[in-house]
Amino acid sequence: QCAYLCPVGAIYEAPTWKKLLHMLENKNGKVFIAQTAPSVRVAIGEEFGMEPGTVSTGKMVAALRRLGFDYVFDTNFGADLTIMEEAHELLHRLTKGGVLPMFTSCCPGWVNMVEKEFPEFIPNLSTTKSPMQIMSSTREYFAKKLGVAPENIVMVAVMPCTAKKDEIERSQHVVNGIKVTDYVITTREFAKMLKLKGISFVNLPEEKHDSPLGASSGAGAIFGVTGGVMEAALRTAYEKFTGEKLPRLVFSEVRGLDGIREAEVDFKTRKLKVAIVNGTGNAKKLLKEIKEGKRNYDFVEVMACMGGCIGGGGQPKSLDPDIIKKRARAIYSIDEMSVIRRSHENPEIIQLYEEFIGEPNGHIAHHYLHTYYTDRSKAKRRQEKSSVEKSAGGK
Ligand code: SF4
Repeated sequence: QCAYLCPVGAIYEAPTWKKLLHMLENKNGKVFIAQTAPSVRVAIGEEFGMEPGTVSTGKMVAALRRLGFDYVFDTNFGADLTIMEEAHELLHRLTKGGVLPMFTSCCPGWVNMVEKEFPEFIPNLSTTKSPMQIMSSTREYFAKKLGVAPENIVMVAVMPCTAKKDEIERSQHVVNGIKVTDYVITTREFAKMLKLKGISFVNLPEEKHDSPLGASSGAGAIFGVTGGVMEAALRTAYEKFTGEKLPRLVFSEVRGLDGIREAEVDFKTRKLKVAIVNGTGNAKKLLKEIKEGKRNYDFVEVMACMGGCIGGGGQPKSLDPDIIKKRARAIYSIDEMSVIRRSHENPEIIQLYEEFIGEPNGHIAHHYLHTYYTDRSKAKRRQEKSSVEKSAGGK
């Protein structure tokens, strides 16, 4: 008997995480794959009384397997792939005269804001999909590796973010007729699933992500914190632009938690002017000042949540005033402990380009890994007008 039928036969809409539990118990021949965002592993432990800032990558992977997932891939791999595409897109814009500043596009909260409130900046958004969507867009590749039909895979993304639930519904993300990510659950919902199933998170062993699509670099890991996308992109863009090995890995000038930060990075033949923004209020201020000609950049990273995804709306709630700092330190510790710290040196990324994508920013890459945006400002105004009229009519 389906748990989602009420006693009188009416069907109610169960939360996604409850539906998923039911589906994992009744797989009907489908292969269930989970992917895990960079910031989930530094926050999930808090739901089970672990110290804030604990890195729980191994237990997180084990927990997903105990829930019944057949494979657990890492969104950090998707972040490495995003960097490959975004860094090459930036280089193309810098050298071929494209629209600058280029804005990052991995945060759906920010992308929605540009489409709805600042559509004049749409050409500035990178066309590269977010790590979650880029990861799922390689569905055909991993389906072939696993020997299953792409439509027989159920792809579930464990995310720090509620806006990601809306992002997976974008029609322009569909690849060859298939919606690439089927479901999103937040960190808190993931914890609820474990609690309901009586899985003792703290006592789980440490397990590894599945391969391929499980190996990632330290650059992919730092996507979870404000400034991380910029730093990861610089590590790859510098080497591709100058043709020389990067003299340092840490760009301390782009780190920190201030709302708007800026830096100038020496790219040998030119200085790259960059800005990093977190929080929607700060993003609006920055856009206004760019429009007024008060600020001028080549590359801008924007994350809608304070601190970036470590402070996302789907993360555990905490009363600890230093929670963002603790999670940020945990993210940077993953990078420091990584053997590979540049996205373009990840062997599984190199293999993916060799076997499937070809050139970064090339024809196949654009088909699978890039997207476009639409002006939604008029629809937003119409919606606002109709809600004002409805509330006035109701008085
Ligand atoms: Fe989602 Fe916030 Fe991260 Fe943006 S910054 S992707 S809204 S969690």
